[in-house]
Amino acid sequence: SREIRLTQHFTGPVKSDYFELSETDLPEPAEGEVVVRNAWLSVDPYMRGRMIGVKTYIDPFEVGAPLEGGAVGQVVQSKADGFAEGDWVMSMKGWREGYVAAADSLTKIDASVLPPEAYLGVAGLTGMTAYIGLKRIIELKAGETLWMSAAAGAVGSAGVQFAKAMGANVIATAGGQEKTDFCTEIGADAVVDYKATDDLAGAVRAAAEPFGGVDAYFENVGGDHLQAALDVIKPHGRMAVCGMIARYNDDTPLPGPTNLTQIIAKKLKVQGFILSDHFDLQGEFIKDLSDWMMAGKVKTRDTVYDGIEQTPDAFMGLFTGANIGKMLVKL
Ligand code: NDP
Repeated sequence: SREIRLTQHFTGPVKSDYFELSETDLPEPAEGEVVVRNAWLSVDPYMRGRMIGVKTYIDPFEVGAPLEGGAVGQVVQSKADGFAEGDWVMSMKGWREGYVAAADSLTKIDASVLPPEAYLGVAGLTGMTAYIGLKRIIELKAGETLWMSAAAGAVGSAGVQFAKAMGANVIATAGGQEKTDFCTEIGADAVVDYKATDDLAGAVRAAAEPFGGVDAYFENVGGDHLQAALDVIKPHGRMAVCGMIARYNDDTPLPGPTNLTQIIAKKLKVQGFILSDHFDLQGEFIKDLSDWMMAGKVKTRDTVYDGIEQTPDAFMGLFTGANIGKMLVKL
Protein backbone atom coordinates (compact mmCIF):
# COMPACT_ATOMS: atom_id res chain seq x y z
CA SER A 1 0.00 0.00 0.00
CA ARG A 2 1.40 3.41 -0.96
CA GLU A 3 1.37 6.49 1.25
CA ILE A 4 2.69 10.05 1.24
CA ARG A 5 5.13 10.97 3.99
CA LEU A 6 6.39 14.38 5.10
CA THR A 7 10.15 14.76 4.59
CA GLN A 8 10.64 17.86 6.79
CA HIS A 9 8.83 20.63 8.61
CA PHE A 10 8.92 23.95 6.76
CA THR A 11 7.72 27.54 6.49
CA GLY A 12 7.25 29.44 3.24
CA PRO A 13 5.74 28.15 0.00
CA VAL A 14 4.91 24.44 -0.25
CA LYS A 15 7.23 22.43 -2.51
CA SER A 16 6.94 18.88 -3.79
CA ASP A 17 10.32 18.04 -2.16
CA TYR A 18 8.59 18.11 1.19
CA PHE A 19 6.61 14.99 0.29
CA GLU A 20 7.69 11.47 -0.64
CA LEU A 21 5.71 8.53 -1.93
CA SER A 22 6.54 5.34 0.00
CA GLU A 23 5.39 1.77 -0.01
CA THR A 24 4.44 -0.06 3.15
CA ASP A 25 3.12 -3.55 3.97
CA LEU A 26 -0.13 -3.48 5.87
CA PRO A 27 -0.15 -5.74 8.95
CA GLU A 28 -2.73 -8.48 9.45
CA PRO A 29 -5.76 -7.05 11.30
CA ALA A 30 -6.10 -8.04 14.97
CA GLU A 31 -9.42 -8.74 16.69
CA GLY A 32 -11.59 -5.59 16.50
CA GLU A 33 -9.67 -4.22 13.51
CA VAL A 34 -10.49 -3.77 9.84
CA VAL A 35 -8.45 -3.33 6.65
CA VAL A 36 -9.65 -0.36 4.60
CA ARG A 37 -8.89 0.64 1.02
CA ASN A 38 -9.30 4.39 0.64
CA ALA A 39 -11.31 5.66 -2.31
CA TRP A 40 -11.22 9.43 -1.76
CA LEU A 41 -8.76 11.67 0.08
CA SER A 42 -9.37 15.22 1.25
CA VAL A 43 -6.70 17.93 1.11
CA ASP A 44 -7.40 21.01 3.21
CA PRO A 45 -5.69 24.34 3.90
CA TYR A 46 -5.49 23.67 7.67
CA MET A 47 -2.99 20.87 6.94
CA ARG A 48 -0.45 23.58 6.08
CA GLY A 49 -0.34 24.58 9.75
CA ARG A 50 0.53 21.02 10.74
CA MET A 51 3.57 21.08 8.41
CA ILE A 52 5.33 23.92 10.23
CA GLY A 53 6.37 21.74 13.15
CA VAL A 54 4.87 23.69 16.03
CA LYS A 55 1.80 22.79 18.04
CA THR A 56 -1.13 25.11 17.39
CA TYR A 57 -4.64 23.96 18.20
CA ILE A 58 -3.58 20.63 16.71
CA ASP A 59 -0.33 18.61 16.78
CA PRO A 60 2.17 18.95 13.92
CA PHE A 61 2.56 16.15 11.38
CA GLU A 62 5.41 13.77 12.16
CA VAL A 63 8.35 13.80 9.76
CA GLY A 64 8.81 10.38 8.11
CA ALA A 65 5.28 9.26 8.93
CA PRO A 66 2.33 9.25 6.55
CA LEU A 67 0.38 12.50 6.62
CA GLU A 68 -3.15 12.48 7.97
CA GLY A 69 -6.42 13.88 6.75
CA GLY A 70 -10.02 13.10 5.97
CA ALA A 71 -10.58 10.02 3.82
CA VAL A 72 -13.41 7.71 2.83
CA GLY A 73 -12.89 4.11 1.83
CA GLN A 74 -14.25 0.60 1.89
CA VAL A 75 -13.60 -2.24 4.28
CA VAL A 76 -11.80 -5.05 2.45
CA GLN A 77 -11.26 -7.35 5.45
CA SER A 78 -12.94 -7.27 8.85
CA LYS A 79 -12.22 -8.78 12.24
CA ALA A 80 -14.68 -6.44 13.94
CA ASP A 81 -18.32 -7.00 14.83
CA GLY A 82 -20.68 -4.80 12.87
CA PHE A 83 -18.19 -4.12 10.05
CA ALA A 84 -18.42 -6.15 6.85
CA GLU A 85 -16.47 -6.21 3.63
CA GLY A 86 -17.77 -3.43 1.36
CA ASP A 87 -18.87 -1.12 4.19
CA TRP A 88 -17.96 2.54 3.61
CA VAL A 89 -16.06 4.29 6.38
CA MET A 90 -14.68 7.75 7.03
CA SER A 91 -11.40 8.27 8.87
CA MET A 92 -8.54 10.70 9.40
CA LYS A 93 -6.23 8.20 7.68
CA GLY A 94 -5.83 10.07 4.42
CA TRP A 95 -2.71 10.50 2.24
CA ARG A 96 -2.52 6.67 1.93
CA GLU A 97 -4.09 3.99 -0.19
CA GLY A 98 -4.99 1.67 2.64
CA TYR A 99 -4.65 1.07 6.35
CA VAL A 100 -5.49 -1.22 9.24
CA ALA A 101 -7.33 0.38 12.14
CA ALA A 102 -9.54 -0.34 15.12
CA ALA A 103 -13.08 -0.33 13.79
CA ASP A 104 -14.26 1.83 16.68
CA SER A 105 -11.97 4.64 15.49
CA LEU A 106 -13.87 4.84 12.18
CA THR A 107 -17.23 6.34 11.25
CA LYS A 108 -19.53 4.35 9.00
CA ILE A 109 -21.11 6.36 6.20
CA ASP A 110 -24.18 5.64 4.12
CA ALA A 111 -23.04 5.73 0.50
CA SER A 112 -26.57 5.02 -0.74
CA VAL A 113 -27.84 8.43 0.42
CA LEU A 114 -24.99 10.55 -0.96
CA PRO A 115 -21.91 9.70 -2.99
CA PRO A 116 -19.12 8.74 -0.55
CA GLU A 117 -16.93 11.73 -1.42
CA ALA A 118 -19.72 14.11 -0.34
CA TYR A 119 -18.85 13.15 3.24
CA LEU A 120 -15.52 14.93 2.73
CA GLY A 121 -17.24 18.00 1.31
CA VAL A 122 -20.63 19.57 1.75
CA ALA A 123 -21.99 16.81 4.01
CA GLY A 124 -18.80 16.57 6.05
CA LEU A 125 -16.47 18.87 7.95
CA THR A 126 -16.34 21.35 5.07
CA GLY A 127 -20.08 21.94 5.01
CA MET A 128 -20.19 21.92 8.78
CA THR A 129 -17.54 24.69 8.87
CA ALA A 130 -19.61 26.92 6.61
CA TYR A 131 -22.72 26.15 8.67
CA ILE A 132 -21.11 26.97 12.03
CA GLY A 133 -19.68 30.23 10.71
CA LEU A 134 -23.06 31.38 9.42
CA LYS A 135 -25.39 29.99 12.08
CA ARG A 136 -23.45 30.28 15.31
CA ILE A 137 -20.73 32.86 14.74
CA ILE A 138 -22.41 35.36 12.43
CA GLU A 139 -25.98 34.42 13.37
CA LEU A 140 -27.04 35.31 9.86
CA LYS A 141 -30.63 36.42 9.44
CA ALA A 142 -32.94 36.45 6.42
CA GLY A 143 -32.71 39.71 4.52
CA GLU A 144 -29.15 40.47 5.62
CA THR A 145 -26.25 40.74 3.21
CA LEU A 146 -23.22 38.48 3.57
CA TRP A 147 -19.83 38.81 1.90
CA MET A 148 -18.33 35.35 1.37
CA SER A 149 -14.61 35.30 0.57
CA ALA A 150 -12.92 32.41 -1.32
CA ALA A 151 -16.51 31.81 -2.37
CA ALA A 152 -15.76 29.30 -5.14
CA GLY A 153 -13.81 27.08 -2.74
CA ALA A 154 -15.11 24.22 -0.64
CA VAL A 155 -16.26 26.06 2.49
CA GLY A 156 -17.09 29.17 0.46
CA SER A 157 -19.35 27.49 -2.09
CA ALA A 158 -21.16 25.58 0.64
CA GLY A 159 -21.54 28.81 2.58
CA VAL A 160 -22.90 30.79 -0.38
CA GLN A 161 -25.68 28.24 -0.82
CA PHE A 162 -26.42 27.86 2.88
CA ALA A 163 -26.65 31.64 3.25
CA LYS A 164 -29.06 31.80 0.31
CA ALA A 165 -31.12 29.00 1.85
CA MET A 166 -31.20 31.04 5.08
CA GLY A 167 -32.72 33.92 3.14
CA ALA A 168 -29.68 36.22 3.00
CA ASN A 169 -28.22 38.14 0.07
CA VAL A 170 -24.73 37.02 -0.87
CA ILE A 171 -21.81 38.92 -2.37
CA ALA A 172 -19.18 36.40 -3.47
CA THR A 173 -15.50 37.12 -4.12
CA ALA A 174 -13.19 34.70 -5.90
CA GLY A 175 -10.20 34.73 -8.24
CA GLY A 176 -10.97 34.61 -11.97
CA GLN A 177 -13.97 34.62 -14.26
CA GLU A 178 -14.58 30.86 -14.19
CA LYS A 179 -14.87 31.04 -10.41
CA THR A 180 -17.15 34.07 -10.30
CA ASP A 181 -19.36 32.41 -12.95
CA PHE A 182 -19.58 29.38 -10.70
CA CYS A 183 -20.57 31.60 -7.76
CA THR A 184 -23.39 33.07 -9.85
CA GLU A 185 -24.48 29.57 -10.84
CA ILE A 186 -24.81 28.52 -7.19
CA GLY A 187 -26.89 31.56 -6.35
CA ALA A 188 -24.65 34.47 -5.36
CA ASP A 189 -26.52 37.74 -5.89
CA ALA A 190 -23.39 39.62 -6.92
CA VAL A 191 -19.81 38.57 -7.61
CA VAL A 192 -16.43 40.26 -7.61
CA ASP A 193 -13.30 38.85 -9.21
CA TYR A 194 -10.68 40.10 -6.75
CA LYS A 195 -7.91 39.41 -9.26
CA ALA A 196 -9.51 41.80 -11.75
CA THR A 197 -9.63 44.83 -9.47
CA ASP A 198 -7.08 46.88 -7.58
CA ASP A 199 -9.81 48.30 -5.37
CA LEU A 200 -11.42 45.32 -3.70
CA ALA A 201 -13.21 47.43 -1.08
CA GLY A 202 -14.67 49.69 -3.75
CA ALA A 203 -15.78 46.77 -5.90
CA VAL A 204 -17.49 44.97 -3.02
CA ARG A 205 -19.10 48.19 -1.79
CA ALA A 206 -20.56 48.80 -5.24
CA ALA A 207 -21.74 45.18 -5.53
CA ALA A 208 -23.43 45.34 -2.13
CA GLU A 209 -25.05 48.72 -2.59
CA PRO A 210 -28.32 47.43 -4.12
CA PHE A 211 -28.64 45.21 -1.03
CA GLY A 212 -28.07 48.00 1.48
CA GLY A 213 -24.39 47.21 2.19
CA VAL A 214 -22.54 44.35 3.91
CA ASP A 215 -23.90 43.21 7.27
CA ALA A 216 -21.57 40.27 7.75
CA TYR A 217 -18.24 38.98 6.43
CA PHE A 218 -17.10 35.35 6.24
CA GLU A 219 -13.29 35.42 6.35
CA ASN A 220 -11.41 32.67 4.53
CA VAL A 221 -8.54 34.67 3.09
CA GLY A 222 -6.99 37.39 5.31
CA GLY A 223 -4.59 40.08 4.12
CA ASP A 224 -6.06 42.47 1.58
CA HIS A 225 -9.49 40.83 1.94
CA LEU A 226 -9.64 41.57 5.66
CA GLN A 227 -8.45 45.12 5.08
CA ALA A 228 -11.23 45.60 2.52
CA ALA A 229 -13.84 43.94 4.73
CA LEU A 230 -13.05 46.30 7.64
CA ASP A 231 -13.54 49.22 5.26
CA VAL A 232 -16.74 47.97 3.68
CA ILE A 233 -18.72 46.34 6.48
CA LYS A 234 -21.56 48.32 8.06
CA PRO A 235 -21.57 49.54 11.67
CA HIS A 236 -22.42 46.68 14.07
CA GLY A 237 -21.30 44.21 11.39
CA ARG A 238 -20.23 40.67 12.33
CA MET A 239 -17.23 38.77 11.04
CA ALA A 240 -16.68 35.02 11.30
CA VAL A 241 -12.95 34.44 11.03
CA CYS A 242 -12.69 30.93 9.63
CA GLY A 243 -9.34 30.99 7.85
CA MET A 244 -6.65 33.23 6.39
CA ILE A 245 -5.20 31.13 3.60
CA ALA A 246 -3.32 34.07 2.06
CA ARG A 247 -1.08 34.05 5.15
CA TYR A 248 -0.34 30.33 5.65
CA ASN A 249 2.81 30.32 3.48
CA ASP A 250 4.35 33.46 4.97
CA ASP A 251 7.93 32.98 6.12
CA THR A 252 7.54 35.60 8.80
CA PRO A 253 4.28 37.14 10.01
CA LEU A 254 3.38 40.26 8.05
CA PRO A 255 1.81 43.37 9.63
CA GLY A 256 -1.95 43.15 9.83
CA PRO A 257 -4.54 45.44 8.26
CA THR A 258 -3.82 49.14 8.82
CA ASN A 259 -7.49 49.88 9.55
CA LEU A 260 -8.15 47.76 12.64
CA THR A 261 -9.56 50.80 14.44
CA GLN A 262 -12.65 50.25 12.29
CA ILE A 263 -13.50 47.47 14.75
CA ILE A 264 -14.00 50.16 17.38
CA ALA A 265 -15.45 52.90 15.20
CA LYS A 266 -17.99 50.51 13.68
CA LYS A 267 -18.52 48.49 16.87
CA LEU A 268 -17.87 45.27 15.01
CA LYS A 269 -18.13 41.76 16.41
CA VAL A 270 -15.16 39.75 15.13
CA GLN A 271 -14.96 36.10 16.17
CA GLY A 272 -12.63 33.30 15.18
CA PHE A 273 -13.74 29.70 15.45
CA ILE A 274 -12.47 26.15 15.14
CA LEU A 275 -14.86 23.57 13.82
CA SER A 276 -14.06 20.91 16.42
CA ASP A 277 -15.49 23.05 19.25
CA HIS A 278 -18.92 23.01 17.63
CA PHE A 279 -19.81 19.36 17.00
CA ASP A 280 -22.91 19.87 19.15
CA LEU A 281 -24.41 21.57 16.06
CA GLN A 282 -24.02 18.45 13.92
CA GLY A 283 -27.61 17.21 14.32
CA GLU A 284 -29.03 20.58 13.38
CA PHE A 285 -26.61 20.80 10.45
CA ILE A 286 -27.58 17.41 9.02
CA LYS A 287 -31.27 18.28 9.36
CA ASP A 288 -30.97 21.66 7.63
CA LEU A 289 -28.66 20.25 4.96
CA SER A 290 -31.06 17.39 4.17
CA ASP A 291 -33.96 19.85 3.87
CA TRP A 292 -31.92 22.16 1.63
CA MET A 293 -30.68 19.29 -0.54
CA MET A 294 -34.14 17.84 -0.88
CA ALA A 295 -35.37 21.27 -2.00
CA GLY A 296 -32.57 21.41 -4.59
CA LYS A 297 -30.88 24.34 -2.88
CA VAL A 298 -27.40 22.84 -2.62
CA LYS A 299 -25.29 21.84 -5.60
CA THR A 300 -21.81 20.44 -5.31
CA ARG A 301 -18.83 20.54 -7.57
CA ASP A 302 -15.45 18.96 -6.88
CA THR A 303 -11.99 19.33 -8.35
CA VAL A 304 -10.51 15.86 -8.58
CA TYR A 305 -6.87 14.78 -8.90
CA ASP A 306 -6.22 11.14 -9.75
CA GLY A 307 -4.01 8.77 -7.80
CA ILE A 308 -2.11 8.87 -4.53
CA GLU A 309 0.97 10.34 -6.24
CA GLN A 310 -1.06 13.47 -7.11
CA THR A 311 -1.99 14.24 -3.49
CA PRO A 312 0.85 16.76 -2.94
CA ASP A 313 -0.09 18.56 -6.18
CA ALA A 314 -3.73 18.70 -5.10
CA PHE A 315 -2.66 20.11 -1.75
CA MET A 316 -0.35 22.69 -3.33
CA GLY A 317 -3.17 23.64 -5.70
CA LEU A 318 -5.18 25.03 -2.78
CA PHE A 319 -2.65 27.86 -2.52
CA THR A 320 -2.68 28.70 -6.21
CA GLY A 321 -6.46 28.53 -6.50
CA ALA A 322 -6.47 25.36 -8.65
CA ASN A 323 -9.81 24.21 -7.24
CA ILE A 324 -13.45 25.04 -7.82
CA GLY A 325 -15.49 23.49 -5.03
CA LYS A 326 -13.89 20.81 -2.88
CA MET A 327 -10.37 19.66 -3.71
CA LEU A 328 -10.24 15.85 -3.65
CA VAL A 329 -7.97 13.00 -4.67
CA LYS A 330 -9.59 9.89 -6.15
CA LEU A 331 -7.73 6.63 -5.71
P1 NDP B 1 -10.76 26.22 -0.52
O1 NDP B 1 -11.49 25.18 -1.29
O2 NDP B 1 -11.41 27.54 -0.32
O3 NDP B 1 -9.36 26.38 -1.24
C1 NDP B 1 -8.52 27.44 -1.07
C2 NDP B 1 -8.92 28.64 -1.94
O4 NDP B 1 -8.42 29.80 -1.31
C3 NDP B 1 -8.29 28.63 -3.32
O5 NDP B 1 -9.02 27.91 -4.26
C4 NDP B 1 -8.19 30.11 -3.64
O6 NDP B 1 -9.37 30.56 -4.30
C5 NDP B 1 -8.15 30.77 -2.27
N1 NDP B 1 -6.80 31.34 -2.04
C6 NDP B 1 -5.64 30.66 -1.91
N2 NDP B 1 -4.63 31.51 -1.73
C7 NDP B 1 -5.16 32.76 -1.75
C8 NDP B 1 -4.62 34.07 -1.62
N3 NDP B 1 -3.30 34.26 -1.43
N4 NDP B 1 -5.46 35.13 -1.69
C9 NDP B 1 -6.77 34.93 -1.88
N5 NDP B 1 -7.36 33.72 -2.02
C10 NDP B 1 -6.55 32.65 -1.95
O7 NDP B 1 -10.36 25.64 0.91
P2 NDP B 1 -11.39 25.30 2.09
O8 NDP B 1 -12.76 25.61 1.67
O9 NDP B 1 -11.09 23.96 2.58
O10 NDP B 1 -10.95 26.33 3.23
C11 NDP B 1 -11.34 27.70 3.15
C12 NDP B 1 -10.82 28.44 4.38
O11 NDP B 1 -11.45 27.91 5.54
C13 NDP B 1 -9.32 28.28 4.61
O12 NDP B 1 -8.80 29.52 5.05
C14 NDP B 1 -9.24 27.24 5.71
O13 NDP B 1 -8.06 27.34 6.45
C15 NDP B 1 -10.49 27.57 6.50
N6 NDP B 1 -11.03 26.49 7.33
C16 NDP B 1 -11.19 26.71 8.67
C17 NDP B 1 -11.77 25.78 9.48
C18 NDP B 1 -11.98 26.10 10.92
O14 NDP B 1 -12.38 25.22 11.70
N7 NDP B 1 -11.76 27.34 11.34
C19 NDP B 1 -12.18 24.45 8.97
C20 NDP B 1 -12.02 24.33 7.52
C21 NDP B 1 -11.45 25.31 6.75
P3 NDP B 1 -9.29 31.82 -5.34
O15 NDP B 1 -8.81 31.23 -6.63
O16 NDP B 1 -10.65 32.36 -5.36
O17 NDP B 1 -8.27 32.75 -4.78
